[in-house]
Amino acid sequence: MKLSQHDLRQLDDGYLQRLPEAALRALSLTLLADLKEAQERLQQNPNNSSRPPSSRAPWDRPGVDATAASDTDADEDDAVAPSRDATARDDDRAADAAAEPPGAPPSGDPTPPPARPKRKPGKQPGTPGVGRTQVFTAHATEEHRPTACHGCQASLAAAAAVCYTGFQSLDLVWGDPKEPGVRLRVVDHRFFEAGCDACGHHTREQPMQVADDPTLEGVQLREWRLVGPGLATLIVALSLRFRLSRARIHEFLDDWLGVHLSIGTIHQTLHEAAAVVAPVEATLLADIHASGLLHADETSWPQQEQGRWLWVFLTATTTLYVIAGRGKATVTQVLDGFTGWLMSDGWFSYRGYPRRLRCWAHLLRKAQGLVDCYDAGAGPLVTWSAPRWKP
Ligand SMILES: [Zn+2]
Repeated sequence: MKLSQHDLRQLDDGYLQRLPEAALRALSLTLLADLKEAQERLQQNPNNSSRPPSSRAPWDRPGVDATAASDTDADEDDAVAPSRDATARDDDRAADAAAEPPGAPPSGDPTPPPARPKRKPGKQPGTPGVGRTQVFTAHATEEHRPTACHGCQASLAAAAAVCYTGFQSLDLVWGDPKEPGVRLRVVDHRFFEAGCDACGHHTREQPMQVADDPTLEGVQLREWRLVGPGLATLIVALSLRFRLSRARIHEFLDDWLGVHLSIGTIHQTLHEAAAVVAPVEATLLADIHASGLLHADETSWPQQEQGRWLWVFLTATTTLYVIAGRGKATVTQVLDGFTGWLMSDGWFSYRGYPRRLRCWAHLLRKAQGLVDCYDAGAGPLVTWSAPRWKP
């Protein structure tokens, strides 16, 4: 979308009648491109885009998908067996139900309490809002002025402009070898509006914003934000590397940097950072799929919750780390589109891939096992292979 709501409000019949033919043609092309883009978005649905199934209109939703309930091809390591107590309770309920006549109300059980409405996370309706309480002194001011008219494309370099809005950004700046360390830097961003002498249209320079992308799952990426990229990096590190909760991060920033950020701002920063790096993951996967030889291995990952493993997929130029379960699902997902050779150990999750090379180090260990075993049948292998390698 090239034309903002502010632009469209000014475009009317009178304005178009006054516009010279060349400018009118240029504006028509912009309007046509915007219209096509809007129509394509209107026609998007879960069948032809990355929109989630939950975005489907209620009347378009199919019934419960039976295949989803029977899909047991999940990660074996993620499967949790029902506990013994839970199984026993289910058996008791089944026995009680069998003893009562059909249609009779359950005897002895009190009437279940009415279901309480689910409380939505975040600020509740009616709760007074809380704005920012900390005012920073800016180290610098950056002005953002329009350069060309959004109506007739005329230059606005010489036009008088007035500031109509602005925001403050807060960032961490790293020093250099002569002056090491980090420091906070506050910048006042000011956005200007200018009138066009040629056509009278008023154009506003606006903070950049990524168009609504359904794959970002509701996260909006825009320039208008308090937390700069350096400070966002620190917040991500405190959360993922040092395993601090949102409340602990809030406390750390307050105590050590003197920066008071709300829990909501910290939460939003983490989600936006995840959305920003998502395309990088796709690039790494594409590099891996294009390679002819891929090495893979996995190890336990105690920093995460139980059942998570750290996988590494390595080519000559790319290394991809994945934290996931240890089952086949992870390998299947990462290798979807890969046709080269896979070098791995003998873990069963790799065995479904047909073009697989067994790691030489593991083969040597297996051969050493034959050397050490008491099976007389292993003798011929031992006699010819033993001189060829030194375990
Ligand atoms: Zn103009």
